[in-house]
Amino acid sequence: MVDIILLGGPGAGKGTQGELMAEWLPLPRVSSGDLFRANLSQETELGKQAKVYMDRGELVPDEITIGMVADRISEPDCANGVVFDGFPRTVAQAEALDDLLADMGRQVNAVLNIEVSEDVLLERLAGRWTCSQCGEIYHRLFSPEKVEGVCDKCGGALYQREDDNRETQLRRIRVYQEQTSPLQDYYQEKGVLVDIDGEQSPEAVAAEIREAVQPLLV
Ligand code: ADP
Ligand code: AMP
Repeated sequence: MVDIILLGGPGAGKGTQGELMAEWLPLPRVSSGDLFRANLSQETELGKQAKVYMDRGELVPDEITIGMVADRISEPDCANGVVFDGFPRTVAQAEALDDLLADMGRQVNAVLNIEVSEDVLLERLAGRWTCSQCGEIYHRLFSPEKVEGVCDKCGGALYQREDDNRETQLRRIRVYQEQTSPLQDYYQEKGVLVDIDGEQSPEAVAAEIREAVQPLLV
């Protein structure tokens, strides 16, 4: 049983690495951003509430976000652990997650802090394309699809996220610095923070993560 958090700015590679981890562990990857986008496309009430904040590059209020993630991790596939991607993003969310996991007799085992400079974050967000069907993540320059606009894995159409425009990117990076980066201290004090050099190839980042996570699996 292992619960792992992927921490890092927008574009740091959380989704890319989270997918790889989900395969090898194997555990479900729970991405709060993906959950919001699913609500958006299904036009749920929660999706309508979240859209206002997402469009601005701001955080969706804690009570909405925590409730949504709490529902998701109470599902049976999350019983043996979770790879959290993009959650928690505030200290209040981190405290709520501690309580939720404690109620299940669990705790956060590791927080992988994927470190990437602001310039590289912007470069990555600008070139990100995502599959509209399976969610596979591509980059125009660094990891392009074989046939332009078509997902290698499932044949779905690729799209660029609406919040990947320059103004919203900068806002999301600022929001990360102000509201999410304090979680580094929060988890450092708990002794679970592991710094990962995110400015390597995806394969090298994955190898560093594997080395950090392997000892937890005994
Ligand atoms: P996050 O989930 O942290 O926002 P993503 O995993 O979506 O970040 O990655 C953002 C963009 O950067 C994507 O286009 C992805 O293909 C690319 N990317 C991810 N990791 C790397 C890496 N190590 N080197 C180069 N590009 C990467
Ligand atoms: P992401 O897919 O992680 O880049 O998230 C996209 C957007 O969804 C963010 O800019 C926020 O508006 C919202 N969001 C995702 N996760 C959270 C969270 N844990 N807390 C608040 N808002 C979130």
